[in-house]
This record gives sequence, C-alpha cells and structure tokens, in this order.
Amino acid sequence: MMEKSSISIFDENYKSIEEQISAAAIKSGRKREDIILLAATKTVSTEVINYAIEKGIKYIGENRVQEFLSKENELSTNAHRHFIGHLQSNKAKDIVGRVEMIESVHSVKLARVIGELSKKKGIVTDILLEVNIGNEDSKSGFTAQEISEKIEEISKISGVKVKGLMAIPPICEKSDEIRKYFAQMNKLFIDIRAKKIDNVSMDYLSMGMSSDFAEAIEEGSNIVRLGTALFGKRNYNI
Ligand SMILES: *Cc1c(COP(=O)(O)O)cnc(C)c1O
Repeated sequence: MMEKSSISIFDENYKSIEEQISAAAIKSGRKREDIILLAATKTVSTEVINYAIEKGIKYIGENRVQEFLSKENELSTNAHRHFIGHLQSNKAKDIVGRVEMIESVHSVKLARVIGELSKKKGIVTDILLEVNIGNEDSKSGFTAQEISEKIEEISKISGVKVKGLMAIPPICEKSDEIRKYFAQMNKLFIDIRAKKIDNVSMDYLSMGMSSDFAEAIEEGSNIVRLGTALFGKRNYNI
C-alpha cells in the first residue's frame, strides 16, 4: 500500500537528517537542540504525519489553508503547528487561533488582519516576517530594505508578536550562491535583534529546505522546513 512505502521512506530518511542537522549545528557552534526541525507536510497524509510525530517530529508546517483544515482534526496534538504557506488576508480568519505560529507574514496588511482576528479571539499570534531576500518578482515577502523600514510599524500592531524572520531564497545551482543569501538573512536578523524593538523578539530564523538545510544551519538558521528530504518526492509541487 501507498502509506506503507511513505512510512518506510520516512524511517530511512529521518535518522540521516537528524545526523546532518547535528553536524551542521556543531559546525556553527551550536547544539542539535538549538535547531528546530519542522516537517513541511503538504500533500502528506495525516496517517504518515502522525507516524512521524510518534517517531519524534515536534513541529509541523502546512502550506494551504484548505488542506490544513481538512487534516486538522485528525492531526496528533503532540506537535507544534505552524502555517508556512502563502496566506491571503481574506483566508487569515481560517488560520488564526488554529496554529501556534504563522511563519509567512508577507505584508503589513496581513499582519494587521492577523492582529485584529487575534484580538477578537483574545489571543496573541506569533508571527515571522517573510523576507524576499532575492528580490524575486515571483515571491512574496518584504525586501530586506522594506523590513528595516517597516519593522517598527509592525511592532506596534497589537494581537501579533514578531518572533523572527523566514525566507525562501532563490533557487541556486551552487551552494556558495545560496550561502550568500542565507548569510544576508542572518545579518538582517542580527541587525534587527540589536535594535531591541518593543514587542519584537528575534528568536527564530526560519530558512533551509531539503536541498540546502545544512548550509542554512551553518549560516545561522534555527528552523529548517523539510518536506521531500523526510517524506520523499511529492506528486505535485506547491
Ligand atoms: C514545501 C515547502 C518546504 C519544504 O520543501 P522541500 O524542498 O520539500 O523540503 C519548506 N518551506 C515551505 C514554505 C514550503 O512550501
């Protein structure tokens, strides 16, 4: 059966990924525990996700609102839930209150909407600001310059708490090229942290996916979001 092979793919991959994360953490002067491994679970069945959680995965991230809602009730409650996909302001109402963190906040407008919805529910939603570090037209997010200009404004929005930055750098053929983007992100992260802005705690730098997570960790990431490397190739890409 389909599920059985997904489970054995996960088993085969998980141990080696753990070792690679440890090695990269040590290379960057940190420990395994300093890095969060978030399983990017788009297209993965709840059966396989729950198996992964049973085996030790502590963070999961979904991309699509509809897909998340359809899986939500069947998901194990033993993992932290993040939203990592593109979120339209008009869909935010379906996500706020249902996940612990929204990693993909790409505009001031979206942060305001999340803040308003959170206040109505009497909660504060942790968010990461998504940075379009390669200035790509195809990607959403703040440019590095915009982040610096707008961080103070965002910090004043009630109902949200900025906990860090997230990025998906451009696809690069060489690992040196991708490192450059990761290093730029790390610098931005450190610079913002140094400003000690009220209501902003730069705790998390979420970058690194299946093909580049070791480089990302070496350059300062502390959340890596892995799909393919854990669960195998998806039938379709989002
Ligand atoms: C799918 C996805 C990932 C994981 O991608 P892989 O290359 O399969 O590891 C990470 N982050 C986001 C935002 C994603 O959509």
